[in-house]
Amino acid sequence: MATILKPPKPKKCKCCSEKFTPRNTLQTACSPKCAIQLAKQLTQRKQQREEKEQRAAWNKRKAATKPLSHWMNMTQRAFNDYIRARDGEICISCGSTTAVSYHAGHYRTTAAASQLRFNEDNVHSQCSACNTHQSGNISPYRINLITKIGLQRVLALESNNEPHRYTREELDGIRARYRALLREILRQREAA
Ligand SMILES: [Zn+2]
Ligand SMILES: [Zn+2]
Repeated sequence: MATILKPPKPKKCKCCSEKFTPRNTLQTACSPKCAIQLAKQLTQRKQQREEKEQRAAWNKRKAATKPLSHWMNMTQRAFNDYIRARDGEICISCGSTTAVSYHAGHYRTTAAASQLRFNEDNVHSQCSACNTHQSGNISPYRINLITKIGLQRVLALESNNEPHRYTREELDGIRARYRALLREILRQREAA
């Protein structure tokens, strides 16, 4: 008994998109030229995908080998950038608005109270002179801080002595939060 083969239906060439009638169901390109081109594209795409995967794996390994102090620094930088944007160019200690540069100055230092290193009440814009040359110029800092946030919140900072150990995940979260807040401030300023 002879099998009657149905004539193959025309389909679209995967390379040039022209309609063609395939000799069999496996044929996906209209011509040898398109078949070669298609094979090249597939190899290239596979290579790109593999390179991308390798890069991602490498970045992940690299990130995993970084010490916690690296993420602490990165996070402090993101937080400090936000504080400077929040406050603008004004020194919490001496009140100057014309200094060459402004830093994010901790009221209680990161060395003394690491648990307050990312506390918004504890960090304010400060001129570089007060920040680096007068070790924080702390007496006027306290007076102006009370004016700014109220005595209650200053006392809360001063009595907070609960040590805190940051985890990598926690730092990732804090960093993302303050990067987003900074972007929001910059976006609002641009719109104003
Ligand atoms: Zn073709
Ligand atoms: Zn100052």
